[in-house]
Amino acid sequence: TTPGGPRTREEKILVTVRVRPLNRREQAMYDLIAWDCLDEHTIVFKNPNHDRPVNPYCFDKVFDPTCSTQRVYEEGARDVALSALTGMNATIFAYGQTSSGKTFTMRGITENAVNDIFVHIKNTPERNFLLKFSALEIYNETVVDLLNSKTGSLRLLDDPEKGTTVEKLVEEIVKDSEHLRQLIGICEAQRQVGETALNDKSSRSHQIIRLTIESSLREATNCVKSFIASLNLVDLAGSERVSQTSADGIRLKEGSHINRSLLTLTTVIRKLSGGRRGGHIPYRDSKLTRILQSSLGGNARTAIICTMSPALSHVEQTRNTLSFATSAK
Ligand code: ADP
Ligand code: MG
Repeated sequence: TTPGGPRTREEKILVTVRVRPLNRREQAMYDLIAWDCLDEHTIVFKNPNHDRPVNPYCFDKVFDPTCSTQRVYEEGARDVALSALTGMNATIFAYGQTSSGKTFTMRGITENAVNDIFVHIKNTPERNFLLKFSALEIYNETVVDLLNSKTGSLRLLDDPEKGTTVEKLVEEIVKDSEHLRQLIGICEAQRQVGETALNDKSSRSHQIIRLTIESSLREATNCVKSFIASLNLVDLAGSERVSQTSADGIRLKEGSHINRSLLTLTTVIRKLSGGRRGGHIPYRDSKLTRILQSSLGGNARTAIICTMSPALSHVEQTRNTLSFATSAK
């Protein structure tokens, strides 16, 4: 056991890997498939020069290119997402290099989670639910509201009760599932607005969709049990933004290639998984980790879906992704 006691199963970060199919561009350049999914937990680099397979990587789940997003949701995110219905903060991330499938995966995860949440609400008539939606983007350490970009750069405030909050962030009360889908649509459109002006924006920005779910028993009894928790659905900047820097520290100072939020997030995740309770966790070093602090570690549940290209031409970046995934377990 580690100092501070053994970690419970609940606290463990759920780490899965999703391999997308070869895309058209990769096919057109006769790129090769460099990875074998040996079973539903194991992926290994196909080493053409060795008879013996090289070290396999093992995770909670490995989803091969034939797996549907629904399956990725059910096996890699569902339990974490639903924990927000019973008062436990939850965060689901997609991590991987640009074009590995983060946005594709998070859209599907969000859709599935939203459906599940409304099914749960329908099947739980004894409780009153209140759902609130907010969404933001972090670009160059600037926080912007995806429901109201007119407010410009938003400040983070430290609330003694709620922890870090985002000043002036719009929180919409969700009327029904149709309304929620509309709100998600507004955010996606807003994200694309900036995209035409800055063509690498999607690879450098983080998007957080936050659903806050409150519920209480309709019949007031002596034990009035109410729940409140947030589900954070996070589409991260491309992981090449950290791995370029980790090789040599010099680049850290240059600024243009690094992404402070992503770098800090990887450090926070590594420390949380390291099992060293009580050590300093640098949540305050970036906007992303400040915003997510109460939904990471401690009493929160986390799932990380690492997305990767199967292509040989991306092997370096993919190794970086898999080594981050390994350190998050
Ligand atoms: P990222 O957000 O990591 O940059 P995207 O999600 O935009 O990557 O994916 C890049 C392209 O690959 C998109 O056209 C997307 O539709 C496609 N894609 C990604 N993952 C899959 C998948 N599992 N199956 C089919 N197409 C995918
Ligand atoms: Mg994307």
